[in-house]
Amino acid sequence: MIKVKKRKILLLPGDGIGPEVIKEVRKIIQWFNKNKSLDFEIDEDLAGGAAYDKHGTPITDEVFYKALESEVVMLGAVGGPKWDNLEFSKKPERALLKLRKELKLFANLRPAICFKQLVSASSLKPEIVSGLDIMIVRELTGGIYFGEPRGIKPIDNGERKGINTHAYTTSEIVRVAKVAFDLAKKRSNKVTSCEKSNVMEAGQLWKEEVQVLHDKEYKEVELNHMLADNCAMQLLRNPKQFDVIVTDNLFGDMLSDQASMLTGSLGLLPSASLGSKNKNGEMRAMYEPIHGAAPDIAGKGVANPIATILSFAMALKYSLDLDKEADGLENAVQNVLDDGLRTKDILTKGTKEVSTSEMGDAIISKLK
Ligand code: NAD
Repeated sequence: MIKVKKRKILLLPGDGIGPEVIKEVRKIIQWFNKNKSLDFEIDEDLAGGAAYDKHGTPITDEVFYKALESEVVMLGAVGGPKWDNLEFSKKPERALLKLRKELKLFANLRPAICFKQLVSASSLKPEIVSGLDIMIVRELTGGIYFGEPRGIKPIDNGERKGINTHAYTTSEIVRVAKVAFDLAKKRSNKVTSCEKSNVMEAGQLWKEEVQVLHDKEYKEVELNHMLADNCAMQLLRNPKQFDVIVTDNLFGDMLSDQASMLTGSLGLLPSASLGSKNKNGEMRAMYEPIHGAAPDIAGKGVANPIATILSFAMALKYSLDLDKEADGLENAVQNVLDDGLRTKDILTKGTKEVSTSEMGDAIISKLK
């Protein structure tokens, strides 16, 4: 097994606005190295459409091995219309899926935080979202997106049948639930586990195994079970009732998108995908903004780098054990928003527009 190299950060800017937002993270890493005497080793390489253009594949073996050896992978975004018609195996998104699958990143953490300065950007009433801070933990490598059998096949009456299989094992459920309980202990100590145990056996198993784990190891954490469709409604009705939500791959895909939209700001939301810790406590992890490559604004210097910068704050917290530095970076972002600086996507009356790099520089100035 390849050993994870401590403090090695692999930057994969990708396509579209990816390189622009990752550039700001690079500046921040360099600032930490210089001013906090940290020793992050930065490497950077191609992924997605950029890798396809140069090498004919969305991720080369060399880059894949670099990712395996790095403590942190920071991804910008991949994709764009230029590569839309490529065959499935060559599409830029395959780089992402390969990294998630081969690095065994089974827990996807997506915070939905409504910044007080941006409450008006949400489509919900301010009193419903103001101060919102929830964490969705989505299982990422199992369930219906990976289950066998799958496929499309002809059937007797001349029709076709599409098949996917939703399946979970005890260990797959327990490892992601542990991540959720451990996170809750550092937050407001409350986990809501979502499934469809009323109509799906895999959901019934999910509910039972989460409860068993809770009773055995996490009695001090409050646990509630909720049907996933009810959770979708509750997220709109009263999202602040939640602290950590843990759910499977399919429901997590939808619920985390829904939760992120409560905050009204795609350019601000980070994510982390975590693997298991080995016996030396080393963990593989990839951090990326939730937004895509935004080809419509690429190259214009207007992309909001905050989602990517906050993804790096998550890396400081979850991979590098630098909670103080992570808090410092999050506070720097808040302070810049307090000062009324905004990239174009979050610009409102009375605030000042800044470019991608000006936003990065302003955040660094607050770190000082
Ligand atoms: P998108 O997230 O790229 O863009 C949606 C809208 O939000 C666009 O109007 C864009 O300008 C805006 N936007 C996104 N990020 C922004 C930022 N940081 N600052 C300011 N505005 C921002 O989604 P899309 O348009 O559906 O997809 C574009 C491409 O990105 C597609 O090829 C898609 O496959 C790919 N994609 C990649 C990822 C990823 O790499 N993880 C995720 C989603 C989409």
